[in-house]
Amino acid sequence: MTGGAIRLHQLAKAFDGVPAVTGIDLDIPAGQFYSLLGASGCGKTTTLRMIAGFEKPDSGSIELDGRDVAQDPPHKRPVNTVFQTYALFPFMSVWDNVAFGLRYQKTPKQDIKRRVGEALDLVRMHEFAKRRPTQLSGGQQQRVALARALVLQPRVLLLDEPLGALDAKLRKQLQLELRAVQREVEITFVYVTHDQDEALTMSDQIAVLAEGRVEQVGPPQEIYSAPATTYVAGFLGAANIFDAEVLENNDGAALCSALGTRLGATVDTSCRPGPAAIVIRPERVTLQSPDDPVSPGHNAIRGTVAQVVYHGASTQVHVDVGGPTALVVDVPNRYGPGSAAYDAGMPATCVCSTDAVRVLARSAAAVIKDPAADLVAGPV
Ligand code: ATP
Repeated sequence: MTGGAIRLHQLAKAFDGVPAVTGIDLDIPAGQFYSLLGASGCGKTTTLRMIAGFEKPDSGSIELDGRDVAQDPPHKRPVNTVFQTYALFPFMSVWDNVAFGLRYQKTPKQDIKRRVGEALDLVRMHEFAKRRPTQLSGGQQQRVALARALVLQPRVLLLDEPLGALDAKLRKQLQLELRAVQREVEITFVYVTHDQDEALTMSDQIAVLAEGRVEQVGPPQEIYSAPATTYVAGFLGAANIFDAEVLENNDGAALCSALGTRLGATVDTSCRPGPAAIVIRPERVTLQSPDDPVSPGHNAIRGTVAQVVYHGASTQVHVDVGGPTALVVDVPNRYGPGSAAYDAGMPATCVCSTDAVRVLARSAAAVIKDPAADLVAGPV
């Protein structure tokens, strides 16, 4: 099987005059695992449904391998969809469910036998071929749904929150399995999710959507470590986001004013002095006593510990640094539960390197922050 490349150009759709997708441009390369990530209602499913042909765009184009498919009905497009609800036929065996599409296409019997067998092998469901869907777990049903979609050899597989109905542990396992299947079949997967962990784990590239628009596109590492906007920073993982003023930029070494102090930041040469925001990931900050010297080239933000929250693998220390919210520091519990030797009320200095401070554009979309970061509000 080979994957198809998708190009969306200025794709837009409104429902009853209310915009759902407001001009999306995306280039989805052939053979990639490509995720559309965003909060509920940001237009992910509508975008996917337009690619599938279930929804007609108001404007814009959808190209598949260079051909505009916007006018083609769903069954004429070389794409197939896997939904959260498995949509298997309950009265048919697993084998017949997977064979259904091929029989409908009048594929020769010998080919059906071979292809259904291969598809069930791919998702490790061969031994369940005779069972009915009701005799399978949720994870097994979703594997069958995947086999049923892949057996038709689409160039693009669209997946709409396919793991949404499964419990957390099974989700994690199936994430890895789905990724492995995609690598094996090499067709393009377009995967809709609101779960940032899921998108980070599986994707070659992630497009973060907000309010019907694309906020940022990039590989997981880039989206997480170098978010372009406050929305992306807040949506992917825990983030300390504060208003800042860029004072100067000397060839990528910037000086910012934030939290009542001066902070060094590593930025693009295009970053200009003026109002901005900064983001510092909690795992990039360490805590030290106010008496200890700060290593040269590092930022120091002084504050008072407001709350200590134990999370098992790490402890989050919320430090009141005079901002509207506390600065959250992630302390790995390398030496057991007492690794973060801090209590509420203790003075502490938050230390981070200049490249841990990212300067961002303030996003038009409302920032969705880690709710834990709002537990402790400092003076406003
Ligand atoms: P979720 O993660 O909750 O599924 P989403 O990002 O996939 O959200 P969409 O389902 O694309 O979002 O919906 C985008 C917006 O369009 C929402 O405000 C939704 O209420 C609206 N919408 C979607 N489908 C319809 C429809 N058939 N009729 C009216 N409004 C719709």
